[in-house]
Amino acid sequence: VFITFEGGEGAGKSTHINFLAQTLEACGFEVVRVREPGSTRIGEQLRGVVLDPENAEMADWTELFIYEAARAQLVAEAIKPALERGAIVLCDRFTDSTLAYQGYGRGLELDRVRRANELACQGIVPDATVLMVAPNALEGLYRATKDDGADRLESAGHDFHVRVNQAFVELAAQSKKRIRMVQSASAKSLTSQSVFKALADVLPQ
Ligand code: C5P
Repeated sequence: VFITFEGGEGAGKSTHINFLAQTLEACGFEVVRVREPGSTRIGEQLRGVVLDPENAEMADWTELFIYEAARAQLVAEAIKPALERGAIVLCDRFTDSTLAYQGYGRGLELDRVRRANELACQGIVPDATVLMVAPNALEGLYRATKDDGADRLESAGHDFHVRVNQAFVELAAQSKKRIRMVQSASAKSLTSQSVFKALADVLPQ
C-alpha cells in the first residue's frame, strides 16, 4: 500500500506520519517511511541543493528537475522494492507537491509538470493521499519558518505560499477519491484519529 502525505508548511505532516507508522508497526506490518526530496543518499544530496538559500539564482525548470530526479531515485531505490515485498509505504510529499509548488506556485505549465511527474514515478501511483490542512495555513508557515530558519522555498514570500495552499485544495477537489483532506486540530490525538479514518479503506485490517 502506498500512501502519500501533502500540505503546506507546518501542517503537522511528519508528526502524523510518525504516529501512523508506529501504530502500524505495533500491529506487525512492515512500514517504510520516506520523505521528498530525500530519503536516499542521492536524494538527500539533491535536497541540499534545492533547499540551499545560497542557490537563489536557480531557474524554475532546474528546481522541477531536481525534485523529479530525487523522486526517480526514491521510487527506484526505496518505494518500488518496498511495495513489491508488501510493505506499507508512507511518503512525506510526492507528486501533488510538485504540482502545487512548481506548477501553481512557480507558474510552470501544469500539463508539463504532470508529464515530468509521470516520468519520475515509473508507473507508481499513491493508493491514497492525505492532505493535511493547518487551521490557519499561514500560521503554519509562520511556525515552520520560526523554528529553524527559512530555507530557499520557505522564504519565497507570502503570495507564493497562498497560491500553494489554494493549489492543494484545488488538487483535492480534482481527485476526490485519492486525496483525503484532514484538518489539523489543536489536539494531536484528534488529528491522528482523523488520519486513520481517512485511510480506513486502504489500510490492511
Ligand atoms: O515538507 P518539508 O517542509 O520537509 O518540505 C521541504 C521544503 O521543500 C518546503 O520548504 C517545501 O516548500 C519545499 N518543496 C517544494 N516543492 C516540492 C516539494 C517540497 O518547494 N515539490
